[in-house]
Amino acid sequence: MRYSAEKLSEEKVFKDPVHRYVHVRDRVIWDLVGTKEFQRLRRIKQLGTTFLTFHGAEHSRFNHSLGVYEIVRRIIDDVFAGRPEWNDDDRLLTLCAALLHDLGHGPFSHSFEKVFDFDHEDFTQSIVLGNTEVNAILKKVGPDFPQQVAEVIAKTSAKKLVVSLISSQIDADRMDYLQRDAYFTGVSYGQFDMERILRVMRPKEDQVVIKKSGMHAVEDYIMSRYQMYWQVYFHPVSRSAEVILTKILHRAKQLYENNYSFKNEPIHFYSFFKDQVTLEDYLKLDESIIMYYFQIWQDEDDAILSDLCRRFVNRNLFKYAEFDPAKEYKKLAELNTLFEKAGIDPDYYLVVDSSSDLPYDFYRPGEEEERLPIHLLMKNGELKELSRESEIVDAISGKRRTDHKLYYPGDFLADESSDNSIKKQIRSLLEI
Ligand code: ZN
Repeated sequence: MRYSAEKLSEEKVFKDPVHRYVHVRDRVIWDLVGTKEFQRLRRIKQLGTTFLTFHGAEHSRFNHSLGVYEIVRRIIDDVFAGRPEWNDDDRLLTLCAALLHDLGHGPFSHSFEKVFDFDHEDFTQSIVLGNTEVNAILKKVGPDFPQQVAEVIAKTSAKKLVVSLISSQIDADRMDYLQRDAYFTGVSYGQFDMERILRVMRPKEDQVVIKKSGMHAVEDYIMSRYQMYWQVYFHPVSRSAEVILTKILHRAKQLYENNYSFKNEPIHFYSFFKDQVTLEDYLKLDESIIMYYFQIWQDEDDAILSDLCRRFVNRNLFKYAEFDPAKEYKKLAELNTLFEKAGIDPDYYLVVDSSSDLPYDFYRPGEEEERLPIHLLMKNGELKELSRESEIVDAISGKRRTDHKLYYPGDFLADESSDNSIKKQIRSLLEI
């Protein structure tokens, strides 16, 4: 029997708190889950620093990846199978791309990508196409199968319907992470009726569309995404932890460039510091390794590095104030000078951080990111863009909301023992 068609003698199930069970019958999927590159995702948290705000948020990319696979499997096997618009030859390709879509995520991806200037999506491509266990399994399906999977994940595939199942404004990726992140953080915002949405999804030419009767379930999904962004993903306390994490990486890199001698050689970071990261180095790094360095760097002689690591490890985070960069740039410059005078390095201790999200967007060709809209399938077979039918979605669509905050170490500024007058001025500028 061809490897691509091979089924397990018995179905395997993973117990899952969100979908109850994740079902695996295909040999290829089972083999991919067993690879070391996929198992590595157990050691990368789905929500980075969010566990410092919502203590339940310790779930991993491994959980989420299985969840996305399960949603896609249910759409294909329960809803699309047998419909003329769906080509079941694409089934395995779609399942593999769903399972592997986040394979290149590294530890605390956002901070790492910012400091060392790379993109986890490039690493996903390298893992799928490079000399890895994942690649060896995909190649057994067919010599060009790894390339096909990589193209679906990169959204460059000509199979647009397949791409839209995994990345669009209503895709299996989002449907899984909203519910999963809501479950593990313990908030109620991320819930919506996915069962209903799955039942009303239809393949239509090159996209997934939603039967008009399912519009209210989709409204709920869009509102839950809107809520999750502002209540969980952009939570100012998690962002504070991320600011500190980013500054630790900056500091370590700067010390390395200045030939600082670390008490323990940070060998796992060298190729990142030198901007010569190989796939092998990248795969060796996970969040336990990072936390190990943060632990030992608490005892480094460099005061900034050790202080920032203590803050991260012990959750002594920066405080924050609302900040408007357009109006308050003079105040920021003033604060910079005062921080320097007070002996607090503003490069590390006075940080502006911005978050921004577009909850739903209709199609506007040529704009910053062209997003495919969600289309409703009307009774007469016509397609209508969602915000033209839904007043709720219309109210928030195309509106980017941005939030800026200024982060600073509250405890340093509360210290009355020295530089009293300077710290007083800082406090009054920050209105604390
Ligand atoms: Zn994902």
